[in-house]
Amino acid sequence: MPSKIKVAVRVRPLLPHERSNKHTEEKIECNQDKKQIVLHLSDKDSDQRINSKKIFKFDKVIDGSYTQNQVFEELHIKALIGKVLEGYHATIFAYGQTGSGKTYTMEGYDYVNSGPKNLATGERNVKPVIKYTDDNGVSIRAIKDIFEQADKLRSTRTKNIKISCSFLQIYNEKVFDLLNMANLPVKGNANSVGGLKMRWNKTEQFVVENLFVFECFSAEDALKIFNTGIKNRVVASHNMNNASSRSHCIFTMNVEQSSSDDFNNVVISKLQLVDLAGSERVGLTGNTGVAYKESIDINKSLLTLRKVINGLADKKTNQKKAHIPYRESKLTCLLKQSLGGNSYCLMIACLPPSDFYLDENISTLTYATKAS
Ligand code: ADP
Ligand code: MG
Repeated sequence: MPSKIKVAVRVRPLLPHERSNKHTEEKIECNQDKKQIVLHLSDKDSDQRINSKKIFKFDKVIDGSYTQNQVFEELHIKALIGKVLEGYHATIFAYGQTGSGKTYTMEGYDYVNSGPKNLATGERNVKPVIKYTDDNGVSIRAIKDIFEQADKLRSTRTKNIKISCSFLQIYNEKVFDLLNMANLPVKGNANSVGGLKMRWNKTEQFVVENLFVFECFSAEDALKIFNTGIKNRVVASHNMNNASSRSHCIFTMNVEQSSSDDFNNVVISKLQLVDLAGSERVGLTGNTGVAYKESIDINKSLLTLRKVINGLADKKTNQKKAHIPYRESKLTCLLKQSLGGNSYCLMIACLPPSDFYLDENISTLTYATKAS
């Protein structure tokens, strides 16, 4: 039986500019054997006791020395994909403040915020072409692996397996299709496109109307689709006031299976790969107007996600019929099938090691602990 949500914490290494700005990493201890993150607080950080410790326990803890491949192996993502091919829904999502390593973990390279900047327009002239490299994150490795596993199944069993992909972005509680340029906001007016409508039906649950879904016959097909989505994300991000850190991106691989002697009995499952918006608290930055509205919406989604996860955990322990507030945000509507019911979910909480982010790290670890 599927278990509750598994939570892993990935602490990234200090970045060169943090090092040169003399950031230290003395306060964070990543204990991989005990699966703990220990924060060493001094009297300045805590009003309770001098030199106290805060201990957070998880299913897995990974430090900055891990390669992308080791992360994929250690988090048993192949096994999770195997479950999707057995007919279960699964979600992997990266959570954490902006700059903590979410995009690095999921995609491997942040095409939106990296690359040469055009000083006249402020835009980054990046035309991403995603290839297989050691730097590939979870999503690209998952694309490759799901096709490998599907091919094996096809050869050993008489099975029809159809895989299709979609890629969407939730921004300001609106759903945009990253595979359909016509659905992306036009430059200078982020509100020019209304976003796609969502409706509910009993079998598929929450469905995004008119979302492009592409059938993929190989990992290369799916990678092309992923690449297109990333390219459009770069464009959309420019048009939406660099919104990448304030939007959630969901790449979905749908798997439809039937056996050769019974075409009518189709099992549908999906793997959703999610790069969440930055979890940083707002209010501190003095956001106003548009940015403020965005921040409220993001927090609403992330807060709802937490409520949903906790509600599901309570339900499991108390066996009571708790109300799970999926409908309170678009994000949780779209993740509903993979969060509740017969499904597998892995949350990767990302942390920068710098003592500079102690407060934000406490908040990320607290959020992640409640999820585990
Ligand atoms: P986020 O998506 O959470 O805003 P990014 O994934 O863009 O953060 O990461 C911020 C920066 O840190 C990027 O320059 C990224 O390349 C780097 N980084 C993140 N995680 C790692 C890691 N495990 N090893 C090396 N560099 C990393
Ligand atoms: Mg990012």
